[in-house]
Amino acid sequence: MKVDVAIIGGGPAGSIAGKYAAASGAKTIIIEEHPAIGEPIQCAGIISRRAASACEVKRGDFLIRTAQGAFINSPNHRLRIDGHEEKAWIIDRKIFDRELASRALDAGCEILLKAKVVEGGQGRLEVRVNGEREIIEAGVLIAAEGVKRRISRLYLGDTNLPRIIPAIQTEVRCDFEDSDFVEVFLGKKVAPGFFGWMIPTEDGFGRVGLGIASDGIKASALSYLERLISDHPLVRGSTTDFVLGGIPIGMAKKTVSDGFIAVGDAAGQVKPTTGGGIYTGAVCARIAGRVAAEAVLDGDTTRMRLLEYEKKWRRLIGKELSIGFKIHRWFSGLDDRKLDQLIESLNDPEIIRVIENFGDMDKPSILFRELISLPKAKVAGLLFSLMKSF
Ligand SMILES: Cc1cc2nc3c(=O)[nH]c(=O)nc-3n(C[C@H](O)[C@H](O)[C@H](O)COP(=O)(O)OP(=O)(O)OC[C@H]3O[C@@H](n4cnc5c(N)ncnc54)[C@H](O)[C@@H]3O)c2cc1C
Repeated sequence: MKVDVAIIGGGPAGSIAGKYAAASGAKTIIIEEHPAIGEPIQCAGIISRRAASACEVKRGDFLIRTAQGAFINSPNHRLRIDGHEEKAWIIDRKIFDRELASRALDAGCEILLKAKVVEGGQGRLEVRVNGEREIIEAGVLIAAEGVKRRISRLYLGDTNLPRIIPAIQTEVRCDFEDSDFVEVFLGKKVAPGFFGWMIPTEDGFGRVGLGIASDGIKASALSYLERLISDHPLVRGSTTDFVLGGIPIGMAKKTVSDGFIAVGDAAGQVKPTTGGGIYTGAVCARIAGRVAAEAVLDGDTTRMRLLEYEKKWRRLIGKELSIGFKIHRWFSGLDDRKLDQLIESLNDPEIIRVIENFGDMDKPSILFRELISLPKAKVAGLLFSLMKSF
């Protein structure tokens, strides 16, 4: 088979890149190893309204409910942040991913399911389709293959992403204090170096999960989650149905080579502060699809030509991701005493007002800038340690 643009992976980044490449006039195919789009799910399913608009979707069947704020829990303190309006969507990722894939199909992109890319060469992919070997030739290959990035390594060299956070989640019965709010848990016992979450879904249920980001931890993410479920007063019941995945933290050094582009988790285009990759992946996938198609149609698919993609995405979100990475590194080094100190110091009406007004789950630098300008001695001490990491 011969196409202009071949995309590895039918997740959000793959579908959006597919839509843009096909809409730009390129013969485009998405190759997905699973028999269905959107499975298995590896996501807490919380996105900002900005993310929904970057994915170009309106409220649909995938929207389970909305959230207007969060309770942030450190070992000994609890902080209530109320956005006073709808701030985020809690979605069904399976339906969401299928919606994005159907937009790609509508634009004229083809989707090949149960097809695993096993090898790559210049302008060609070896694919196992239902166990049969098939060669797909393409002007540009886009790897939207997620965090494992097996094929990306072949084209970009063995460039590891700075950090992969093991994350785990399950859905259980939960009693939320307020089901318009998500719960966030900080601390060594719950989720060393990162955070745990509890996200309301259908009445009486919630997604409970966590990621761990401390080096040298021997216990598994599963053992932390089991403890969170058994110890937390808001969680009822047990489960055996877990979602496991890795969250890439830190951008890839290179995202293009001759005839090749990496996008989404495969390029480390994930917010290091929250681990969310749908918004950032969508922003980059739109550029990837368009640049890939234009390059093929212009007859120039060299690295120099495809660098247009890399320059554009770094200009749009590179600075925010690099600030996020520094905040992540600073945050993951805070011990329980400092986390308590931080949450206690934020629990001040003036500071809460600033967080409520400027907190942005996609752009933490906005809040950071506002907090840093506050004349609050207690916050200043901790923020000074954050500034030192810049
Ligand atoms: C526990 C957890 C919770 C998360 N919660 C959130 C959240 O609340 N909000 C948010 O924004 N983000 C969240 N994320 C991150 C988010 O899930 C990812 O950033 C997002 O899915 C990345 O999209 P993608 O298209 O780049 O990759 P993926 O969604 O991983 O899609 C990659 C696709 O490529 C396919 N593939 C891989 N290799 C091959 C191959 N060789 N051949 C064919 N197909 C292949 C895979 O089957 C897969 O379908 C979470 C992640 C985890 C692990």
